[in-house]
Amino acid sequence: MGMKITVVGTGYVGLVTGTCFANAGNNVICLDVDENKIEKLKNGISPIYEPGLDELITRNTKAGRLKFTTDMEWAYSEGDIVFICVGTPCSEDGSANLGYILGAARDIGDAIERLDAKTIETSKIVIVKSTVPVGTNVLVSSEIQRHTKKPFRMASNPEFLKEGAALNDFNKPDRVVLGVSHPSTSPVLHELYAPFVRQGNPIFVMDIPSAEMVKYASNAMLATKISFINEIANLCESYGADIGEVRRGMCSDRRIGNQFLYPGVGYGGSCFPKDVQACVSMGRQTRGSTPLLSAVHEVNQRQRQLFSTKILDHFGGHDVSGKRIAIWGIAFKQGTDDIREAPSISIMSRLMDRGAEIVAYDPVAADNCKEKMGDRVQFCDNPVDCLDDADALVICTEWGEFQHPDPEEFVSRMRSPVIFDGRNLFNEYKLQSFMEAGITYYSVGRNVMTGNTNTSDSNTPDTDPATPMAPART
Ligand code: NAD
Repeated sequence: MGMKITVVGTGYVGLVTGTCFANAGNNVICLDVDENKIEKLKNGISPIYEPGLDELITRNTKAGRLKFTTDMEWAYSEGDIVFICVGTPCSEDGSANLGYILGAARDIGDAIERLDAKTIETSKIVIVKSTVPVGTNVLVSSEIQRHTKKPFRMASNPEFLKEGAALNDFNKPDRVVLGVSHPSTSPVLHELYAPFVRQGNPIFVMDIPSAEMVKYASNAMLATKISFINEIANLCESYGADIGEVRRGMCSDRRIGNQFLYPGVGYGGSCFPKDVQACVSMGRQTRGSTPLLSAVHEVNQRQRQLFSTKILDHFGGHDVSGKRIAIWGIAFKQGTDDIREAPSISIMSRLMDRGAEIVAYDPVAADNCKEKMGDRVQFCDNPVDCLDDADALVICTEWGEFQHPDPEEFVSRMRSPVIFDGRNLFNEYKLQSFMEAGITYYSVGRNVMTGNTNTSDSNTPDTDPATPMAPART
């Protein structure tokens, strides 16, 4: 029943991949070198937060289709299909660090070499699911061949899931991309993915370099959209336009659309920042150049800086000693506990370096933040407790639970009711209620709004749209 699959790496991608393949009736072994992770998983505890994942892990583990191990020998001997899902983080020079992936290739080669010929009825298919620069499959193949003379087939199958919606994305992918070099590989993978594309979404089969490139091109495009809208937002802010209105007017053009065009504090996470830099590095290595993507990265890094400068400017300069600043949201986006490259980390660090005391709330990312930043950041169990005696609130993540605050809580709890909204979370009615309550509200790409504490004309925000704000300092 089902195919025999080994998934290498139980991070966000490996764990979701292994669990979803098991849920589709396959026999899956998830292998990791991290003993703590595997121990947790064996006890039914997911090391990551991903909505719906725990339940699916438990169900498939109980059914005997999903197993977790650190035993390479066993894991590699069992799987006919091996998915490599290890990390490809950013090296210091911006290129993708292939250390983990080549390490896995070496392990696979060693394991295949030790198998007796009878065990390998058909050659194993080794599939790179990690996001890798073009040419990496060739390197992986060579590394395996350095350790075994036995046959295997390579394939590329980049993953497009989004953290926070990973199960849905995996189970109903917009498309599946397969890079294959051997004609016999494609039918096997079509069969494996058949249950996931029953609604007719396409499986694209192509050469391996193109498949590797599809993933980088997709992430580079999405990152470009975010940096683009942030750059326009900054212009809006400098000239007194409202990015919300500009966005409405612009995005109704069907050629443009409205996806991934939300202004904010910039993108973060374990993919866009490193993948854009890896593209830049690919360009550099071939003497090609990628000025657009270099700028996308630069605009993104600057966006966090501009936002924290806005906060410092509000307090009159560069010293915020003695100021207590509340932070809502640490995760790089809602729906995940992932804080890798999260804008919140840069913003908090800059404020702390300038003397601020930080008190934060995040529904799921607190433990990861404590691990990274120690006790420099205090945590609250709920968003409102965070507000007590705060001189400002900074919103870094667009969690749903932040979207309907009671303005009175800001006024009664905070030392001064000032909000810096890095996600432009609130609609005009909510902003109206903020103004009526006397709250000062900063966002991205719009004028600052200062609430009117004088009740005689409390409906009118105390802003003059004709007066452009001074451009924020970098
Ligand atoms: P991760 O860092 O969360 O997990 C990687 C795991 O691999 C770790 O648990 C690590 O211990 C394990 N590992 C490392 N070397 C190993 C080895 N030799 N044998 C067994 N296990 C090993 O990574 P992730 O976020 O899941 O990303 C994995 C890859 O998928 C990356 O290339 C990433 O760019 C890509 N990707 C990530 C996402 C995402 O949303 N996180 C989405 C699409 C693609």
